[in-house]
Parts: sequence; C-alpha cells; structure tokens
Amino acid sequence: MFTVRIRYSYTLNDAGAPVQKNIEQIFLLDNYQRGLSKRFISDFMMKTDATFNINALKMLLFVAVNVTNTAMTFSACFSFAISESEEAFNFFIQCMHEELFNDCLPSRVIIADQGKGLTASLPISMPEVQLQLCNWHACENIRARVAKSKVGYPFERREEIKDATWQWVKFSTTTELQVNRAALLTLLHPSDRDYFWIDWYSKERQVVLCYTRRYRNLGAVASQRNESLHSILKAVMNPQMSLENAIRFMKSELKLWYRFIREADERSRIDRSRAVDFEAFQLLVGHVTIWALEKINPEWIAAKELATQPITAGSCDCDIYIRYELPCRHYLLRACIQGFPIPISLLHPRWRLNGPPIAPGNWQARYYDDSINPDDANPTKYHDVGKNRFLHAAASLQKLHQELPRQQADLLANQLSTFHANVTVTHERLQEVGQGLPVTLPKPPPTRKEVWAELRQKKKHDRVNARALTAAEAAERDAKQRDAKQRGKQKEDSEAAKQRNKQKEDSEENSEAIASLSSDSLLPFASPFVIMTFKPRGRPKGGKNLTSTTTTTTTTTTFNEPSPSSAPPVMTRTTKSGRAVKETTV
Ligand SMILES: [Zn+2]
Repeated sequence: MFTVRIRYSYTLNDAGAPVQKNIEQIFLLDNYQRGLSKRFISDFMMKTDATFNINALKMLLFVAVNVTNTAMTFSACFSFAISESEEAFNFFIQCMHEELFNDCLPSRVIIADQGKGLTASLPISMPEVQLQLCNWHACENIRARVAKSKVGYPFERREEIKDATWQWVKFSTTTELQVNRAALLTLLHPSDRDYFWIDWYSKERQVVLCYTRRYRNLGAVASQRNESLHSILKAVMNPQMSLENAIRFMKSELKLWYRFIREADERSRIDRSRAVDFEAFQLLVGHVTIWALEKINPEWIAAKELATQPITAGSCDCDIYIRYELPCRHYLLRACIQGFPIPISLLHPRWRLNGPPIAPGNWQARYYDDSINPDDANPTKYHDVGKNRFLHAAASLQKLHQELPRQQADLLANQLSTFHANVTVTHERLQEVGQGLPVTLPKPPPTRKEVWAELRQKKKHDRVNARALTAAEAAERDAKQRDAKQRGKQKEDSEAAKQRNKQKEDSEENSEAIASLSSDSLLPFASPFVIMTFKPRGRPKGGKNLTSTTTTTTTTTTFNEPSPSSAPPVMTRTTKSGRAVKETTV
C-alpha cells in the first residue's frame, strides 16, 4: 500500500474563511521503496526529474530514483503535482525528509536538470546537499542557444561547438578543463561568450567532471536513469487516463520492477565472478555484490603492482573511494603487503548482500585490527605476477564485453571462445607430447680434464682471463685496424697501377716490332697471322708452385688457311728495353 501525503490549497470566501480544499500535490511511497531508499540513497545520491502527459488532469509526475548495489534502477518515491514550482519541490523534499530520512542520513548529492523550482527550493529544504546538473541537459542547453543565436552559425560551426561542449564537460583534470573551455570560447561569437561566462562559468562546479568526480554520486553524471524510467511509465500510462487508474497502473508496474531487483539480488548471491583473486576476496565473495567485487578488482590488481614498487606518500584522490565508498588501491595496499584477505570493513554497508537497513552515520573505511592476527602475515602471498597478469587480462576483457554494443560483444565472445579452444588444444598436445617422451637425468658436470681441454681449444689469441679493454683502448684498437686496412688498400692500388703501366709499355714495344718485321727484314716470311710471345721483366707474382712465367698476347689482322706441310718459323729479336721477343709466323 502507498503511504499518501497531500498538499492542498484553500478557496476562501469573502470573509476569508476556507470553503474548499483543492489538491495541489500528492506524494506516494510504498514500503519497499522506503526500504530501498534508506539503504541505497541515504548518504549517497538521488536523481529527480518530472514527466508529463501521463494522466487526464495533466498533473506532472516527480520521480526520485537511484540504483541498488546490483546496479538496478529503482524509484524512491513519486509525487503528482500541478507545476514544477518551488512550493512543489519544498513539499516533495519535506515528505522525503519525514518519510525516508527520518532515522538516517539524507542524500549527499541530487542530480537534476536546471529546473527553477528545484534550484530555488534546495538551499532552504536541503542546505547541505550538493546539486549536480545533468551534463546532457547542460550540453543541450548550450546547443539550443547556439542554434537560436542571431549570429547565424553555419552547420559545421554548430557541430564544432557541440563537440567542444562535450569536451568541456567530460574531462577530469583542471588543466584539461582550462584547455577545453578556451577551445569552446574560441568557437563562440563574442556575444555568446558573455552568455557562457554568465550562465555556465559559475555552474562548472555542478556539471564538469573535473569537479563532479569529487562528489559521492556513484559515478553518475547525467539523469538518464530518470529518462529510462519515464519511458517505462509512459508505456503503461497515457494522457487520457484518470489519476486513479494512473496510480493503479504505476503500482502494478512497481511490483514487476521489484521482482527484477530481487532476481538481481539473488543472482549476486549465487553467481561467482571468475575474474577475481579468490584468495584475496575470500571475505567478500558471497557477502558483497558481484558488481562491487568487479569494481574493486582492478584496484586490487593495481595494489599488487604498487606493493612491489617503492611507495611514495601522497593524498588519495581515487574516484572509486570518493564516488562509491569502495576501497581504492591505496586502502588495499596494506592487505596486499601484509598478505591477508581484504576485510569487509573497507566497503560501505550499502554494498553488502545482507546489509543493514540503515548505514551508521559515522561509517568510514578502516581495518579492524582486532580481527587481524599479525602471525598470519605473509608479505609475499599476493606477489604472483603471472597470476596477476592473467586476472588483469580476464577482468579487462570482461569489462570490455559489458561495455560493447550487443553485436560487437557477441563478436568478442566468439573470438575469445575460439582462442580458448585453440589454447586448450595446444596445451593438451604439449602435455601429451611431454608425457610420451623418455625422461633422462641431467648430464654430470664436465671433469677438470674436459674443462682444460676446452679452454686450450678456445685459447687461440689471448689469455682467457685477460682483462677487458677500456673504451679508449678499444677505440685505439679499432683505429689501428682501420689504418692497416687503408694501407693494404693503397698498396693494392699501387701494384695495380704498376701492372697497367707495364702492360702499356709492352704493347707499344710489340707494335714497333710488328711494324719493323712486316716492313723489311721479315718480308719473305710475311704472313697475315702473327703470334708474338714475350717474357715480361722481373719475376712474376705468385707462389713457389707457379711454373709458367710467360704472358702471351695474340694480335689478329687477317686469317688465311695455313699450309699443313710447312712448319712455322720462329724468330727471336731484342727490343729497346733489352727483353727477348719470340715471333712465330703461322
Ligand atoms: Zn586511493
């Protein structure tokens, strides 16, 4: 059954006495919503928004939503109202205070669009709360302003401004914020820059990730969960529906929703995430939701890497601790270094499967030293680097699979399945092969005699224990080798030049001899084909085995068939340089 609270206005007569009560607003809350809100909204965040056209009276429906510890969206409460006025939000928040947060902490953060009623109401109705603006609505507001601007931005410039606006809201460091803000302002006309400075610069702390990552908002940056709930409600409610029927349909829809939430809770009790380090998570598995375990797992892997590095002191600025109240790598480091399982006291009670209905107002993450036995400390327990890499890869793939669109996720699953099958087959073969081979003992170490024999073989150029060269000595050695190589090359070039000169001289002498023979003294033996042999000056190069010391040069002028009966005469004469030349006429 719904708990109902109503806000009235009164019609007064001329005398000022009330004569009629008019319903202005109806607040609705059932017991299941009450339990969920106390557990999951208290001390965290909620999102509020209003939807239209869902009943014949045209009353708006205010909805406050949040998520459970299994990441299921739930509605905290409803309120039908005739407008989004400040009074309407005052009443809505007052009812939440009295019905939901009467015995627990109120929410720390409210995420909404820029409704004037809520903006005006919050400083009075919830002065401690942080209002965070939906980044999607913020970007759409700037986009609408640019489209309506009298400047008349061309389409391409509007698209650039749209992209620059998203860059402005989604980066998380101050430096990135300054760069992206400057880029956005550069694209805007001066008149619209004034609009930005007046309307948005003061709201950066409410919308830009650089600041909103400092709030306990469970990682939320937009009010899209409200929008998804609106679409579900509009599927069963319509503008022709009476208010009574609208509330009746809403109630039946809530029952279906509660069933989904219970199923998700049950799944988290039964299922086990296979990507976590069970030894370290043994105190959490079965007591904390899988969603929380998988959120902590990357931090645990990072803590194991930190544990092997020198630790530098510094303040913790991790999103997971600030936004979710889950332990970051810095909180996990002690468990990792001392080698005991992660204590459940590091997680906010909202993440437990059987958590208390109301979290203590003074809760904070800490190690309960009474429950930790120092004798059980095992500093190297979690230093298994290979296993760490394996778990890291599995967790990353699981996260990627969850984030991808359906079609790509299926493709990834198929690829992993194939890879898994291949790896399994390969390792099974390796095992089979390894089992079939004979096992031999290792060879004994070499005897002293064998060692000396090997050393003698290797000792060809220098002592085996010779000192290594210094850098300068090595450079000097290389320079000498280069010089020697250069000298050898020069010597070869010189020899080759001498040889060429000698051949040139011999050729000239032979030409002179031919000219003299053919002109006068050898005229009777003149023959068209002349073979000249000559002995070169000095001893030829070569080894001792070389026996031939004569170089033969053949010059052909014309060729006639020689007479077989006559033997060729051989003539010898002396050239100007004193060398003997044999001339044979064929
Ligand atoms: Zn940290």
